[in-house]
Amino acid sequence: MCQVEEDYNGLECNQEKIPVPGLNRKCMKCKEGTAVLIIRVSDAFCRSCFKEYFIHKFRAMLGKNRVIFPQEKVLLAVSGGAASCTMLSQVQEGLSRDAPKKLRFMPGILYIDDGGACGRSEDERQASISQLKNIFTQTGFPYFIVPLEKVFSLPTSVLVPGTSDPDPSNPCYKQAVDEYLKGKQKLGEEEAVGAVAQLNLEDSAYSSEHKLALQRLFSSLKTLTAKQEMLQTLRQHLILHVARENNYSKVMMGDSCSRLAVKLLSNIALGRGAALASDTGFSDPRFGDVVIVRPMRDYSSKEITFYSRMFHVPSVFIPGLDTKSYDKASIQRLTESFVTNLQADFPSTVSTIYRTSEKLHTVRPPQSQSTEAEPASKCLLCLCALDTTADKASAFHATLISEQLSQLRLQKGSVDPTVESSNQCCVEDQTCGTSGCCSSNRTPVQQDPKALLCYSCRLTIKDMAAVSTLPPYILTEAEKRQRRSQMKVEISEYLLEEDQD
Ligand SMILES: [Zn+2]
Ligand SMILES: [Zn+2]
Repeated sequence: MCQVEEDYNGLECNQEKIPVPGLNRKCMKCKEGTAVLIIRVSDAFCRSCFKEYFIHKFRAMLGKNRVIFPQEKVLLAVSGGAASCTMLSQVQEGLSRDAPKKLRFMPGILYIDDGGACGRSEDERQASISQLKNIFTQTGFPYFIVPLEKVFSLPTSVLVPGTSDPDPSNPCYKQAVDEYLKGKQKLGEEEAVGAVAQLNLEDSAYSSEHKLALQRLFSSLKTLTAKQEMLQTLRQHLILHVARENNYSKVMMGDSCSRLAVKLLSNIALGRGAALASDTGFSDPRFGDVVIVRPMRDYSSKEITFYSRMFHVPSVFIPGLDTKSYDKASIQRLTESFVTNLQADFPSTVSTIYRTSEKLHTVRPPQSQSTEAEPASKCLLCLCALDTTADKASAFHATLISEQLSQLRLQKGSVDPTVESSNQCCVEDQTCGTSGCCSSNRTPVQQDPKALLCYSCRLTIKDMAAVSTLPPYILTEAEKRQRRSQMKVEISEYLLEEDQD
């Protein structure tokens, strides 16, 4: 660290050498207005130019990526924070514009109330919800407020990626836009009324049984790192479920580039290197039928804060899992303070990390095989492609072997209930013969639900005191996949190999 500082001292990064802007500096864009803020070293903006710049950036991000089609239903995941609330205000702005510059999709809002996992009281949760309701009602968009407790009533289908076949009626973006414009001319200037229709769906009730189950799940996670990962995973499942149930094909997340820079580094530390491209990219196709997009990824958190202050974007402060926690409380928290502290002295830190994320691509296993669509090739929890098929001579396999050895000793003691159920056929009746599932059952990898997870999700589950506290949809799906893979082993000698032809 000291070395780096020395190296930079003579260069332009030295803060003292940056000219301190005078009070009556002019806007660099219109050269007339008085600058009210400085985004980067030489970019001083007046109020109206900053607004224009900010709005243009949002439209440019959507225009450049061309993934949202006219009349498509888009769910905005709003957490109450400045970034996602600013995203909401940008969508409102875009929809209210004149015809040529108008955004043409149909938005809905989703807020997931994770207060149950963060130890907030019922009153606190209700207070935040009523504040959010005020904001949501004013937009006129349909909205959903869903408590995290609902994960205990999710169906197992959430964990199965949908078919990613793009809507055949919308073969390409340009064509879709042209068709939309043609159709609109016929209808005259009839606006997309559906987008502003009052259809407020609220479902904020949850049973006390699920409330306890959620508390049990989170107290079973031993570290804050694992808690944060689990919360993120469950939120994602719930968002996906709400989107599917209500026919939303896109979900917009409010991740800023500062947020994504932290996520990129912490995900590397968490062993999610293989999933970086989909975790931090503009669009994330892991769920197949519902695509996650991150239109705020070009804004720094500083820009967002200034914009929301200057133009009075309403937001609600809702404390999360790591609020008020100290720097080293979790890997995510530590990375965050590392990046923000570095950013304070070296203003290009975030953008450098963020630019790296743009260059990342996931190397996909050959897609020609029919196994691509099979859920078993995806991680049970994060639904990313499994990264656990590494070579025998890899660091991953070395850790696996030492884990297996320690597990063999553990199994003589307590047996995990989820493991027990998959063992039943061997214990109760001996009909399964000698070569099939019994022999495969003896290798601990086969029995363990961990075998269905990617490297990083395995680490999260490893930090759990009792895997049985996971919501039923995860446990049931795990059991189903385990049984299927066991059966595959049993009948493997009768099967023709797929890649032989
Ligand atoms: Zn200006
Ligand atoms: Zn995973």
